[in-house]
Amino acid sequence: MLTETTTRLVARFTDAVSRATDTAPTEVVISLREVSARLVMEGGQVLLVPALPAGRLSSRDGGVRRQPGQRGHHVVMAFRDLFGVDRPPVVLITGGNKGLGLETGRQLAQRGLVIVVGSRDLDRGRDAAASLDGLGPGATAVQLDVTDPASVASAGDAVRDQLGRLDVLINNAGIIVEARPTEVTAEQMRPVFETNVFGPATVTTAMLPLLAASPHPRIVNVTSTTGSLTLTANGADFGGTPETRMAYAPSKAALTMLTLQYARAFAAAEDLRHIKVNAVTPGYTATDLNHGAGRRTVEQGAQVIVAMATIDDDGPSGSFVNHAGTVPW
Ligand code: NAP
Repeated sequence: MLTETTTRLVARFTDAVSRATDTAPTEVVISLREVSARLVMEGGQVLLVPALPAGRLSSRDGGVRRQPGQRGHHVVMAFRDLFGVDRPPVVLITGGNKGLGLETGRQLAQRGLVIVVGSRDLDRGRDAAASLDGLGPGATAVQLDVTDPASVASAGDAVRDQLGRLDVLINNAGIIVEARPTEVTAEQMRPVFETNVFGPATVTTAMLPLLAASPHPRIVNVTSTTGSLTLTANGADFGGTPETRMAYAPSKAALTMLTLQYARAFAAAEDLRHIKVNAVTPGYTATDLNHGAGRRTVEQGAQVIVAMATIDDDGPSGSFVNHAGTVPW
């Protein structure tokens, strides 16, 4: 969505630059108060390469090239003109430090969103945010354990204080605890429900005031096909083993229902009606969650998360989808 707008606008303005300077620019640096972006022309295509917080641009990053005779032009544009929005949207991804969460951050950064990596270990979160540096308008990390309300509250404060807004929340953090069906205990199931169900509820409640203030807020709950009652009743093969699903699948069914409840509640509340909340499933994806046994790549798995994080205003709310479309409840 942003890329198309960017491409169109940049094409228009690189024309203007060529006319003004008599040379076709191969590179354009956008420098704004909040964000800088470098656009590279390749084979007639405009690529948005890195977009770094303005203060961090250096000539080493290929940012500032003002000297005559060098490639590139230093051009200042209003963010609204460049992206069609006032400022880049901000997304918070829980469990954003690895696996599908990190890949979702990578794909959303490339679409021009500011990434907030929620990570229960701040150092791992910072490493993940650093790995996204240069892909989009910026990435930062907050300490966020979805099972710890104090951690969730401080993460919300950090987002508000550092970025001043939140447009997209991705409830991605999730765990599996293996339990033999014949011996399962509440102790085995509890942490799974704490992380996969109560966690998204805690985070959503904490972020709701920021989301409600956004013009186009989106919540994506990363659930699982194993949480589909219909597919399970019909004997679908989800991969994995009965042990991996004993606590996990019921927790994901609960998360899917939680999504529906939010969708109905938001639709009924005047100040929350603009929030779209959807459940997505990435499919059986090779990550640490299944010790790499998944059949899909994280690049493939993250696509549906990204798609629902960036749906436009006439997109659905209260849906349950995967890469192929609607998933049965
Ligand atoms: P992963 O590589 O194991 O990543 C899970 C992420 O969740 C990690 O960042 C982990 O942080 C984080 N996390 C776990 N407990 C947390 C907590 N209490 N607070 C904050 N973060 C926590 O697994 P993944 O496959 O990417 O899973 C991402 C989501 O996709 C999960 O909700 C999962 O259920 C869902 N999903 C996955 C598949 C699949 O086949 N992989 C299929 C369907 C749905 P640490 O690094 O600190 O452990």
